[in-house]
This record gives sequence, structure tokens and C-alpha cells, in this order.
Amino acid sequence: MDNQKPLSTHWADITADKIIRERGDKDVLVCASGITPSGTVHIGNFREIISVELVVRALRDRGRRVRFIYSWDDYDVFRKVPQNMPDQERLATYLRKPITLVPDVLGDEESYAAHNEKALEAVLPLVGIEPEYIYQAASYRSSRYADGMKAALDHREDIRRQLNAHRTSALPEDWWPLSVFCTRCDRDTTRILGRDGDWGVRYECESCGNAETLDLRRTGAAKLPWRIDWPIRWSVEGVDFEPAGKDHHSEGGSFDTARLTAREVFGQEPPVTFQYDFVRIKGGSGKISSSTGEVVSLADVLRYYQPELVRFLFAGTRPNSEFAISFDLDVLKNYEDYDKIERTYFNKPENPKKLKKWEKDARVYELSQVHGVPAAVPYQIQIRHLTTLLQIHSGDVDAVIAYLGDVPEADLDRFRVRARCAWNWVKDFAPEDFRFALRRDDEEPAALSAPLAAAVRELGRLAADRLGDGPEKEFGNAMYELMHEHGLESAEFFPAVYQALIGKDKGPRLVNFLHVLGRTTVVRLLRVY
Ligand SMILES: [Zn+2]
Repeated sequence: MDNQKPLSTHWADITADKIIRERGDKDVLVCASGITPSGTVHIGNFREIISVELVVRALRDRGRRVRFIYSWDDYDVFRKVPQNMPDQERLATYLRKPITLVPDVLGDEESYAAHNEKALEAVLPLVGIEPEYIYQAASYRSSRYADGMKAALDHREDIRRQLNAHRTSALPEDWWPLSVFCTRCDRDTTRILGRDGDWGVRYECESCGNAETLDLRRTGAAKLPWRIDWPIRWSVEGVDFEPAGKDHHSEGGSFDTARLTAREVFGQEPPVTFQYDFVRIKGGSGKISSSTGEVVSLADVLRYYQPELVRFLFAGTRPNSEFAISFDLDVLKNYEDYDKIERTYFNKPENPKKLKKWEKDARVYELSQVHGVPAAVPYQIQIRHLTTLLQIHSGDVDAVIAYLGDVPEADLDRFRVRARCAWNWVKDFAPEDFRFALRRDDEEPAALSAPLAAAVRELGRLAADRLGDGPEKEFGNAMYELMHEHGLESAEFFPAVYQALIGKDKGPRLVNFLHVLGRTTVVRLLRVY
């Protein structure tokens, strides 16, 4: 009953087929992702989550049951106070403690880790991602990995050999595949002294002098280093697919050693994987910039890109190629590209030669949807036109909807989201010559020379007479005629008209702009000349 035939050549489908080929005899397939919540989860980290999400979607499209888990590594050590954080001195007192104990200096969550976790958990559903979260601090504290920790200790020398194979300097003689947070001062400044039977571990703390023996079945204070924690997780959860970034997938990187440890120590076949590349940020200087140390989060991107567009950007790019999320004029191009594949999706070609390209785009469109594909092509508004309308109506989305008068009820929500994104973009990132505001009645009209003022006045009369009565082109011809009658060229006349309307020399394409503004508004703005 399984459909082994690829639905498409999309990378998510190819990966899903590979997972089914290699692990398909399982009833429920497990796909995993995760991160340390030691800072804001940025859009580069998001690439991992959305990569898993798209593969999960592809598996479910093949009728497979899938468990999508997301592990928060919130039992990691707080090693460095991030520069962009307030309260640096207070935070410094928490160094070497688990990040789950570090206070939330940015808000009122129970910890700094929880702050970062909740920030992401709140926005992921907006792009249709709802994994099952696993909190590593809670897992360790409930002794969930006690057996794994014991196995790691039993195989101390095997693991040492596996890790040493990729190290330039060998691990020290007293190295143990385990670290301990001191139960008195919570720091990981501890030294393991040895084992006491199967489950006992003796340690002493270099910070506070505390020394004691822990029982791995009862303590919450011990944890595994990352390279061993990872394969244990694969084993405990039965992970079938997990991608990783370049840093983990380098030669001898943590994926390589985790793979060995999984097989040789835990008897677990490592998951299907692939490597994903970085995400760069383009444009948006000042407010959004990765180079200044500020990070760009999913929430930041959602201010300018509607959720389908976010999914589209990632679904439309192979995970192993670097790409940029743009905040400059390319934002408009991305919207145009998306709208194009949306129209294509609902217009399947008959010609078999064209079908291949159609299938490719159609799959990207399907994967870009937050909640399934719409039954018919949704209401589309060109993004450039939308930015013009929003500026005419000072960002009032309801006024734009009223002006358009044809947005179907079913598409209103999506329209509003797009309008909000477009308006944010106009306010924050649109180039100066893209932006305009109509002259208000209480503002002084731009000063024009007498001949230009006469021509502009005449244009006002022409508008009062016939703007909107016929096709745009007809009005355009009449406008050019009028201009030439006044002995003017467009290089002088157009800036004068823009000055009269918006107080600038340039603006949206003039004839279309006059039509969008409509007769009443144009007449009101030009009659003062
Ligand atoms: Zn201590």
C-alpha cells in the first residue's frame, strides 16, 4: 500500500523515499531536529527545522505515520554571556551552570533558555510547523538517559578511541564520557574521580570543593557531552532522519563520531541525514543585519514575508546550497515569483513537454502551503500595486480592501497578512524613491513655475472631465497631447505632476498612478494650481 514511487523530484520527496527505503519497515518514522537555546534562534537555525518539516510533509503525503521531535538542548552549559544581552554582570555569575538555570533578563520567563524556547515555539505554528518538543534538562533530570550514561561509561575506551581518531591531540588520561553539574554550586567545574559499581560516579568540584558519589539512576546532575548525547538520543527516540549543518557534517565532525558511537556502543543504526548550508541576509541595512551581531529571527522575517512565502523560499532551494533572504527590492521579486507559481499551479499544461517543469513548480507550491492547497486559485494582488495602494491609503488595510471591493471573504485573512507585510516593508526597507505620501490638504502645495502650473492645472481639468472613463492608454494619450500643447517634454512635466501630487520628483508610473488615485483625489490635489 506504500507508494514507493517518487511524487516528484523535489529534494524533500527524494529524502522521504530514501528514508522509506532504509527504514520503511517501521510503523512510525521519527524525524528529529534540535538546538541549544543559548540565544535567539535565528533564520539560519530555522533552515534545519523547515528542512525536517518539508521531509515530514513528504513522508505524510506518502501515507506514512511520522513523529516530528524537536529537542531543546537546555541542559547545555552557559559558556559565554552574549554581547547583546543586558545585565552582563549578573549573567556572568551564572557561567558554567546549565542554561536552564540562567535567569531571563529579557522578559519574565522562568529562565533565559525558556525565553528563547517560547519565542520560537510561539511563531512556528504560523508557518505550519508543530513538532513535539523535548526538553533535555527535564530528560536528564528525570534520569531518562541513565542506561545510556551507564553504557557510555562501560564503553569509555571505545568512545575515547572513536573521538581520538578525529582529534589532533588525544583526550587526557582522566577523561570520562560524562560531565557533572556540582549539586552544591550547579557548575560543571567538576572532575570525575572514578566509578563506584555499575551506577555510581564519584566527582569533586573545583569551584566549591564539594565531593560526593552520584547514582546515575537517581541523579539529575550528570549529562553526556554533545558527541555522545546525540547518538544516545537517536537510540532512545529511534531517530530515522535528522539533517545537520556544515559544522556538524565536516570530516570528523560530530555527525561522523556520533555515527560510530551509535553503531558500536548503542547498537543503533544512525539516521538518514543531509547537510544544509547557511542562510545569508541581504538588504535591510540598519534594522536587520546579521553582520552587526544582531540576529534575524523567524519572527523578523514574518514581518515582511507572509508564511507561504517563507516556506516557498526554503522549499524552493536545495538545502545544500547557500542562499540569501532579502529585505531589499528582491522582496517584491520573491512575491512575484510566488504568485507566478501559484497561477501556474491552477493552470496545468496539456503539453507533456511543459508538464515536467509544471510538476516541479507545483510541488514547491504544495510544500509552501501552511494548511493544504486551496481549492481554487486564491485572490492575487500584485505586490507592487499593493504597496502603491497602501501608500495612497496611509497603510490603512481596510481602506485598501474597500477600494478594491473584490477581495473574496475566504481570502481576506491571507490578504490582510500580505498587506501587513507589504506595509512593514514600505515603512522599513523600501528605497527612498519608492516611497510617497499624498499631499494633505493642510500642506503647502509644491511651488511650480507659471508654465508648469498652467499645464498641471489643465491636467486637473482633464482628470475632472474623463479620468477613469476609458482605458488607461486613452487617458495617457490625452495627457501627452496636453503636455505637448503646452510645449513641454515629459522630463519637466512629469516631475511637476509628481510634485503636485506627492511633493517628490518621481513616483509610481504616472498614468497608472492617476487611475489608481481616482478622479476625486487627483482633482483635489491639482485644483490648487
Ligand atoms: Zn560546586
